Amino acid sequence: MERLQGIAVSPGIAIGEALVLDNEGFRIPRRFLPRDAVEDELGRLHSAFEAAIAEVEHNRQQVADQLGDEYAAIFSAHLQMLRDQRLHEEIEEMIRSRHYSPEYSVSRALRRYAKVFQSLEGHYMAERANDIFDIEKRLLRNLLGRAREELSRITSPVLVLAHNLTPSETANLNPRFAMGFVTEIGGPGSHTAIVAEGLGIPAVVGIGPFLTDVSGGDTVIIDGDQGQLVLHPDEETLAHYRHEVEEQRSLATKLEVLRELPAETKDGVRIALMGNIEFPTEVAQCQERGADGIGLYRTEFIYLGREDDPTEEDHFEAYSHVVRSMAGKPVIMRTLDLGADKMRSLPDPEDERNPFLGLRSIRLALRNRDMFRTQLRAILRASAEGEVQIMFPLVSTIIELRQARMVLVDAMEDLEEAGIAFDRDLKVGMMVEVPSAVMMMDRFVEEVDFFSIGTNDLTQYCLAVDRSNKDVANLYTAADPAVLRMIEMALHAAEQAQIPISMCGQMSGNPLYTMLLLGLGLRSFSVTPAAVPEIKRVCRSVAIEQCEQVAQRVRKLEGARAIKAYLKEELAKVFPEFPM
Ligand code: PEP
Ligand code: MG
Repeated sequence: MERLQGIAVSPGIAIGEALVLDNEGFRIPRRFLPRDAVEDELGRLHSAFEAAIAEVEHNRQQVADQLGDEYAAIFSAHLQMLRDQRLHEEIEEMIRSRHYSPEYSVSRALRRYAKVFQSLEGHYMAERANDIFDIEKRLLRNLLGRAREELSRITSPVLVLAHNLTPSETANLNPRFAMGFVTEIGGPGSHTAIVAEGLGIPAVVGIGPFLTDVSGGDTVIIDGDQGQLVLHPDEETLAHYRHEVEEQRSLATKLEVLRELPAETKDGVRIALMGNIEFPTEVAQCQERGADGIGLYRTEFIYLGREDDPTEEDHFEAYSHVVRSMAGKPVIMRTLDLGADKMRSLPDPEDERNPFLGLRSIRLALRNRDMFRTQLRAILRASAEGEVQIMFPLVSTIIELRQARMVLVDAMEDLEEAGIAFDRDLKVGMMVEVPSAVMMMDRFVEEVDFFSIGTNDLTQYCLAVDRSNKDVANLYTAADPAVLRMIEMALHAAEQAQIPISMCGQMSGNPLYTMLLLGLGLRSFSVTPAAVPEIKRVCRSVAIEQCEQVAQRVRKLEGARAIKAYLKEELAKVFPEFPM
C-alpha cells in the first residue's frame, strides 16, 4: 500500500477503479478479460508488437538515411527491447493465466522495468526509463488505436488519475462516472479545483509524479478531505474508508433538513446564502439545497470545451434557463472571465509570460468588444425574465469599470432601438479581487450598485502567489493576515457607503472561515452549491457577538497557520463532529 500526499481541493471519499491518463492523455484501460477472449487478445498483442517494431524500423531507416548509422543506433535499444523474448513471455503469461488485458499487461510489465531503472542513480538510467515509457506508449497506441481519451465519454465508474486536467476537461467530466480525480500538477486555487467542487466530486491536485506507480484498473482511494491518494490499499484501509463514505452519507442526509430553513444566526441576523455555478445544469443543485439565489455565474464556461464561439442565442438560451429556473430569485451574471488557466486551448508559452497578470478577464473582454457586446446583449435579454444583475470581473482601475459600463450602455441602446425587452434598472456590480480595487474602494462605491469579493484572485494578487502552482501552494491561503486585512477594508468601505457586498471566492464556502467572516461583518455568502447546507448550519449555530470575538482574536494572531489552528478549535467547539 502507498499513501501519497497532495493538495485537497474538493472534499469527499471515492473508492474505485483507476483510469490512468499520462501526460499525453493516454488511457490504460480495464484490467480483466473474459476467459474465452484470451487467444484473440494474444493475437492483438502480437500485432501491436509487430506494428511497433515496423514503426521503429521505419524511424531508424529514415534517421540512418538522413544523418548516418551512428544516429540511428538510438533506435536499436528500442528494437532490442521490443524483440526481447523474456518481455513477450512475461506479458503473455499475464494475459493467459491472470486474464489481464493486453493493455494492462503491457503497461504493468514495462512500468516495472522502468521503475527499476528509475531507482538506479544517474542520468543514463533515467534516460533508459524514458525509453521504456516510449515503448509502452508505442505499444498502447497500437493497441488502443487513438491517443486522446474522450473524458466526457466514460461509461463506467472510474477515478481519473492524470498528469493534469484543464478546467474545460474537468468541466466535461460526467460526475456519474468520474467519481473523483487526482493530478500530478495543479494548485489549490486553480479553476480545475473549483470545477471539481462544483461537480461535487473528491479531488486532489499537485501530488507530484506518481503515474508510473499505478495502472488502469487498479483499485485506488481518493481522500479529498485529507488530500491523499491511496494506491494498492489493504483490506483494513478499504474497510476504514468504506465506513467514512457511510458517515458522510448520513451527515448529508442530516443536513437535508436545513433546506427550507433560512440562514439565520442564533440572534436573528439573516444571512444571504447564494450559489456559485459554472453551468446552467447546476441551478438544480442550488435549488435542491435551498440557496437564496445565484451569487456568481461563471459565464465563461460556455466557451470552454467547444471549438466555435457561442452565438448570442447560445448565450441567451443558457442564461434564460438559469433566470427562469431561479423564479424571481437574484442571478448575478459575471461577464466573461476568460484567460490565464481558463483557455480553450493551451496557450503558446510565447504569448503570455505571466498569464495571470496578462490579458485576462475584463481586459480580454474590452479588447474583444464584439464578443463582449454579444454576451451583454444576451444577459440583458435574459434580464426581462427575472432578477438579473451584472458583475464585471477583475476590475483594477476606475477607467476599466467605466469602459465596461459604456459597452453595456451601448448594448442597452441597441436593444432599445430594436424594441427588445430588458430590465433598464438592472444592478451593475464588480468583483473585488485585485488589491488596487481594495485600495480604491472609496471611489468605486460611487460607481457601482454592489460588490463581490473574489478571494481566489485576491489571495493570489495580494500575496504574489500563483493560485495554480503546487510549488507555492503552502503560501496560497486566504487566512493570511494580509488577505484578511484587505477583506476587512473592502467590507468596511462598502458598509460606510451602504453598498451591498458579498463574497464569492472559495473562502466563503469553507466552514472554517464562516464565523470569522460573520465577525468581520460579511452578511452575504456565495458558495459552491454543495457547501450551502454546511455554511447554513454554521450560520444557524452561532451568534454575531460570538463571531465578533473570534474576529477580534484573529486580528491579533500573526500568521495563517495560527489563524487556521484557532479557527479549527472554535469550529470544533460548535460542531465537535465536523470533518476537518
Ligand atoms: C475569485 O477570484 O475569487 C473568483 C470567484 O473568481 P474565479 O475563481 O472564477 O477567478
Ligand atoms: Mg477571480
